[in-house]
Amino acid sequence: MQRLARQWQRRHRRVGFVPTMGYLHAGHLSLVQAARRRVGKTGQVVVSIYVNPTQFGPQEDLSRYPRDLARDLKLCRAAGANVVFTPSDAEMYPPAVGSACGDDRTAERTVPNSRFSTYIVEEQLSQAMEGAARPTHFRGVTTVVAKLFHLVLPDVAVFGAKDWQQAAIVKRMTWDLNFPVKIIVAPTVRAADGLALSSRNKYLNAAQRTQAVILHHTLQRARAAVRRKSIPAARLKADLEKFIASAPLARLDYLELFDPDTLTPVLTAKRGTQLALAVYLGPTRLIDNGQL
Ligand code: AMP
Repeated sequence: MQRLARQWQRRHRRVGFVPTMGYLHAGHLSLVQAARRRVGKTGQVVVSIYVNPTQFGPQEDLSRYPRDLARDLKLCRAAGANVVFTPSDAEMYPPAVGSACGDDRTAERTVPNSRFSTYIVEEQLSQAMEGAARPTHFRGVTTVVAKLFHLVLPDVAVFGAKDWQQAAIVKRMTWDLNFPVKIIVAPTVRAADGLALSSRNKYLNAAQRTQAVILHHTLQRARAAVRRKSIPAARLKADLEKFIASAPLARLDYLELFDPDTLTPVLTAKRGTQLALAVYLGPTRLIDNGQL
């Protein structure tokens, strides 16, 4: 992948990149189209499909995360991707080669008992919400995204607003570590009833799927509440928590009202405030967010 990317660089081709975990849906494909718009007809659009183990907690759904590579490849081709990069775990997290000092790559000798041991940790934006609920999640995300950036060497990378905190953290990492990559955040694509498309929607049974729309309805209710006037965040939060409890299959994990850039909680909810929530429907955990 890196060799190919270097060739593109030498030929002055722009490279657009969409990292995913596969089981693609129209939300992912909208990111591919956004990447294409950014790099033009002569540019290269790369989609990566990699279910990254380091961003899953020990009790999470890594082993049963849905996969369908043949279908994904067809969808990527139809959406206009040039390359689909599908590395294996052994390629992404190999044992060390060469001496422990690391300057002996030519020898390509595996260091005995070595394991992958270098991670990237964003310390500020990763603390709340998904970071609090999933303690090692963002360490896995920033590490794999940094690795993928080094492999794909993109000019532009596109992330979904659906994962608002993730996009903010990737932007911060890119800035803090001087990656020469422009980060684009593309809008959330939703089903007809408003449920944000997600590979994890596949886990829902019919009754859970019907009630999953509570996440979107919560966003709409919050927007309506602040349309004319600002209100104390605590009051709005209490109202929304009660509203979510009205869906018997839904169990709230967290709901936060925060500044969309700094991700710090607000005391007053108003237009422009960001709302994010995580809700369980049975064992399936769904997230959504939006600006009020
Ligand atoms: P995932 O495969 O879940 O890791 O997602 C890969 C990328 O697609 C991330 O940047 C997500 O934010 C984005 N994404 C996921 N769902 C949607 C959606 N419904 N609309 C737009 N982008 C999405």
